[in-house]
Amino acid sequence: VPSTPESKCDVLIIGAGPAGLMMAAWMARCGIHARIVDKRSTKIFSGQADGLQMRSLEIFDSFGFADRAWKEANHMIEICMWNPGADGTIRRSDRIPDVPVGLSRFTQIVLHQGRIERFFLDHIKKYSDPPISVERAVLPESLSIDETLCDNHSADSYPIKVTLRHLTEEEATPAQQSNGNGNDVRDGMFRSNLAEDDTDDLIRKSQVKEGAAEVVRAKYMVGCDGAHSWTRRQLGFQLEGEPTDFIWGVLDVIPITDFPDIRMRCAVHSASSGSLMVIPRENKLVRLYIQLNEIKPDASGRADRSQITPTTIITAAQKILSPYKITYEYCDWWTAYQIGQRVGTNFDSRSRVFLAGDAVHTHSPKAGQGMNVSMQDAFNLGWKLGLVVKGIAKPEILKTYQSERRRVAQDLINFDHKFSRLFSGRPAKDVMDESGVSMADFKDAFIKGNLFASGLSVDYGASMLVAKEGNAAQQGDGTDVSASRVRGKQELAKKVLMGMRFPSFKVLNQSDARPWHFQERLKSDGRFRLIVFAGNVLSPAQNERLNAFCGALASSTFLKPHLYTNIDVLTLHSAKRTDTELLRDFPEVLHPFDEHSGWDYNSVFVDDESYHEGYGDAYGNYGVDRETGCVLVTRPDQYVGFVGELGGEGFKEVERYFGGVLVGKGG
Ligand code: FAD
Repeated sequence: VPSTPESKCDVLIIGAGPAGLMMAAWMARCGIHARIVDKRSTKIFSGQADGLQMRSLEIFDSFGFADRAWKEANHMIEICMWNPGADGTIRRSDRIPDVPVGLSRFTQIVLHQGRIERFFLDHIKKYSDPPISVERAVLPESLSIDETLCDNHSADSYPIKVTLRHLTEEEATPAQQSNGNGNDVRDGMFRSNLAEDDTDDLIRKSQVKEGAAEVVRAKYMVGCDGAHSWTRRQLGFQLEGEPTDFIWGVLDVIPITDFPDIRMRCAVHSASSGSLMVIPRENKLVRLYIQLNEIKPDASGRADRSQITPTTIITAAQKILSPYKITYEYCDWWTAYQIGQRVGTNFDSRSRVFLAGDAVHTHSPKAGQGMNVSMQDAFNLGWKLGLVVKGIAKPEILKTYQSERRRVAQDLINFDHKFSRLFSGRPAKDVMDESGVSMADFKDAFIKGNLFASGLSVDYGASMLVAKEGNAAQQGDGTDVSASRVRGKQELAKKVLMGMRFPSFKVLNQSDARPWHFQERLKSDGRFRLIVFAGNVLSPAQNERLNAFCGALASSTFLKPHLYTNIDVLTLHSAKRTDTELLRDFPEVLHPFDEHSGWDYNSVFVDDESYHEGYGDAYGNYGVDRETGCVLVTRPDQYVGFVGELGGEGFKEVERYFGGVLVGKGG
């Protein structure tokens, strides 16, 4: 009998949806030997998630492919609210901006998930060395973890053993539901929570058949295998929360209609036929999210999905939008789902196996959050794993994944809970109508919710990675990750909050006067950034402080081996650009010299007026003193880890911050 082939990898990723692909992107950027498998034979080609938050676009930009999404997508600028007037007929009651104004250089856009997966696949192909490509039609069927090896994070410790089974094309291609009108339109019912998951069935069948199997030993594993997560079930972790009775249909069509706001994002509450959301999409498509009031879950709590077809959905839409007419000839995709709101009890097991994305949070798709939050889970974890595997960062940083992301998932569920109920409820007839939803409350929730929904309100708690005041989150195993942590001085950069993403304002390159959004310099390449707000470098006192800081930086035995490879150095000063000179006024450590390519002209920036794009007032906007400046550390994911003085004990504190995170002498 031929023995099952065995191999090793550093990180095994299960599932190639948005979370798994984000994970693989980090592995590619960090140069990690990773594998990513998916039980399906193809990626998604239509439908599914489509909304991209401002924060997701900032992240795409840090990898270098936001421009692709930006060009192809439909841009959502305004939300129109439609409610019954006094006569019960729907009318436009409000217009609000689609996202809060002034928070990001991006706005919200919509483009279907298949394109987003494509951008990731191209990126992974371009950057991975060793090469990483999605292995499709591959299903994990057993997982064992050698507990005795879990705390040993050395290079030759592989505690995870997974058996993978290779499926046939037929097994890996889900059946499509008939759509009721004879057309062959792709549907997403097989991924809907109204359908049973087929994983266990596939495992049973392939074991009988004894399809090609292999054993993989891995150092770390990440379950990005969606709401029915096999990985989560193997670990014995639960999703906690509730299903609801609300059933929603989703239809991607090119509408033929006289409804005036069909190219706006709309929330429509009809007097008694339910509610609908309009999401204008790329290529004249429009997504309709429609509450299906006629379809109710049975005693087991689950709705009969065979009752739902594109015809059921459009008929419901026609009632809600009446007296306006709506029909279509072309349908691109459709699905239906029952809203459930759940959060995973645990996001990791022994800092070895992690769960990300829908595997640890499920909720309604209407607020356009799932794909974004799922990608952002993996964006939080990927660099941490990458740096630990490479022996650059301490394994303890892996504990911050759960402490940081579980809170975001809980906030998401709370938000969705509130939002869904307001959305699904019947509009109140008047203030005395207690069972109805007040449309003023709905608008208010929308405006407040927009900040959360933009992804920009995420605020990670105190930990070894975030040097802010407060008790570091207690970890699941009771260890406080913050023992002897550094405390930063938030007052020195009042508007760059530790724990939040580094905001962006226009600055100029000192050497060539080109304006940049400062955040554009914070690439996702696995490096921390030491950002030196050098202040007024022409003042002798400040010049002395800057020189002392840079002298200490250039000679630090702990930081020197990490400089430029693991810690990039960026400078922003506030003196006049035309009065300052790169080589005269800035110490070499801020713009290092390379004997093959000369000086680095891309690291020193100035807060000054540009010729063509105005004045960013970055010091004012970051809340930093223009004379004395400060120093700041951003993590590889652009979240602010530390703020401290440029003078005084500042350098020592920077060294201590990195000492708590990176491996090395004195760390
Ligand atoms: P998934 O996308 O579910 O990917 C999981 C992957 O794992 C799949 O490729 C699957 O084949 C694979 N897999 C599963 N089990 C196994 C196994 N045992 N072995 C191997 N592979 C496995 N989100 C938004 O942000 N914005 C939106 O506008 C939006 N709209 C939505 C509209 C609809 C109709 C739906 C249904 C969802 C929407 N979402 C939206 C949510 C979004 O689709 C999900 O939150 C997101 O896809 C989750 O990403 P994920 O990578 O965690 O999981």
